[in-house]
Amino acid sequence: MNGVGRRQSDTGLLASMVLAILFLPPGVTWRVRPLDLRPGFNIFSLQQDVQLGKESAEKVDNACALNTDPEVVRYINRLGRRLAFFAPNNYSHYAWTFKVVGTSDINAFALPGGFVYVTRGAIELAENEAQLAGVLAHESGHVVMRHGTHEASQALLAQTPLEILGSVLGQSGSLTEQLTDMGLRLGVNSILLKNSRSDESEADEVGAYILYEAGYDPHALAQFFEIVEKRDPQKTIEFFADHPNPENRVEDINSGIATLGPTKEWRASSPDFEVTKERLLSLHATTAANPPAAGSTAFPGPPPAPSSRLIKFEGNGFSIAYPDNWHLQLNEDSVALLPPGGIVDVPEAGAAQAYGASISRFQPHGSGQGNWGLVDATQELLDTLRESNSNLRVVEQRAMNLKGRSALATLLETDSPLQGQKERDLLVTTRQSDSAFSLIFIAPKSSFDAYKPTFDAMLQSLDLK
Ligand SMILES: [Zn+2]
Repeated sequence: MNGVGRRQSDTGLLASMVLAILFLPPGVTWRVRPLDLRPGFNIFSLQQDVQLGKESAEKVDNACALNTDPEVVRYINRLGRRLAFFAPNNYSHYAWTFKVVGTSDINAFALPGGFVYVTRGAIELAENEAQLAGVLAHESGHVVMRHGTHEASQALLAQTPLEILGSVLGQSGSLTEQLTDMGLRLGVNSILLKNSRSDESEADEVGAYILYEAGYDPHALAQFFEIVEKRDPQKTIEFFADHPNPENRVEDINSGIATLGPTKEWRASSPDFEVTKERLLSLHATTAANPPAAGSTAFPGPPPAPSSRLIKFEGNGFSIAYPDNWHLQLNEDSVALLPPGGIVDVPEAGAAQAYGASISRFQPHGSGQGNWGLVDATQELLDTLRESNSNLRVVEQRAMNLKGRSALATLLETDSPLQGQKERDLLVTTRQSDSAFSLIFIAPKSSFDAYKPTFDAMLQSLDLK
């Protein structure tokens, strides 16, 4: 009886829905195609996404110079949360916290659980609110598609059987520590930020969907990518390192938009966006003595003097302090600490570091059995450096003590990427477990002495775990 009764009312409901659709007045929209994307393989729980994101965000906050201007913080969070409201697969416990990193680099990234970061450079580059919304919506796409923990899951599964992983991840305590113990990279170059090209396509698809639902022209997402691509590589290299370009990205985003639904009356840029952008530009103008000229690919003149105020960077297995007017660049296998204009364009060779410091770790011959010496490992590194610096020569080499570790200091001379100039480098190498740790300080020979006190202070601050 009940069944029959229900079927009758279902039929009634269906009939009224058909009528409702038939009699929809023109101009009223309904979804042509609901977005049906599901997150990929993942061994983490949704709660663990939030926990891992929170733990990692604390580290990022310490490593980045965040913009804490209350107006800027309020604006970016209001915009970000309004967008996240429309995200598919939006787990109610996601933290949805949006932060502005105070650097002129153009970048944005998202940690699992809803911790989204966008740089001042990216906000300033956006021509209107819709484009900035596009960046935040794309990042929200990485969050709801759980790309960070998806990539971490795949990396873990490649090395550990699933049954063991399940019991390890079930333990209480710091998730970051457990995963680091299992060999996962979470500090510099964190696997949580290593998006694959298919992750990128999904984040684009979710981003365009969110824009559409929130009333912004979804083309704005593709427009922003086009502007980024037109900028000089020095400023955009990180953006595409964190968001590798899928093939035909812009075309794919634009062709996907047709399936979202009919064109609407799009939300125009907001006064709040203009005010925030102005505010960022004026805040920056008071803190930066020598901002690069708009559109110029090279920093005009030498970098400003290094600030004597140091900030600490917590890397993977080490920490180091660096001047607070420098910035970080996380590369594939190294981290660079750079003054403004520290990277210069070299014709036919791309970009090269002319000022600052660079840190990396490598496995010398004989590692694995712990069977290697520091002098040979340093020689191996010098041989590698010579492949791209044929004029590299050793000026002096001596043993040194680095907070109880034996280390080797090697003073080098080579050609600077600054045309016609010679470069001085101080290379410090030491052993960290079974890896060789290297820190190299770089400056043109003519200004090496001026940088020496900064380099010394940085070296003294270096802590290896
Ligand atoms: Zn991305």
